[in-house]
Amino acid sequence: MSNLPPCPACNSEFTYEDGDLLVCPECSHEWSRDATPAQDEQRVWKDAHGNVLQDGDSVTLVKDLKIKGSSAVIKVGTKVKSIRLIDGDHDIDCRIDGFGPMQLKSEFVKKA
Ligand SMILES: [Zn+2]
Repeated sequence: MSNLPPCPACNSEFTYEDGDLLVCPECSHEWSRDATPAQDEQRVWKDAHGNVLQDGDSVTLVKDLKIKGSSAVIKVGTKVKSIRLIDGDHDIDCRIDGFGPMQLKSEFVKKA
């Protein structure tokens, strides 16, 4: 086999195959031949503390949120059930009891 890629860690050309892995004999680096490229990585939503959020999670607000176009404020500590994660500046779609449908920023919530 002469068409193996060079070692991504040290650029050695002496790469060899070991099952599904490619191995570098010079620096002992092992990697997967069909590793998925980084651009295929899925977006990860994180709350104010860096916890990963998922569709259907319950969260609480860590900050008072003013509602655009009204004087109402959603208070810090308000619980929000069954969030839906979306792309955008406001990246959480949800419904808040007493307020209706709402979009929030993940940085202003924490996982309940
Ligand atoms: Zn190497």
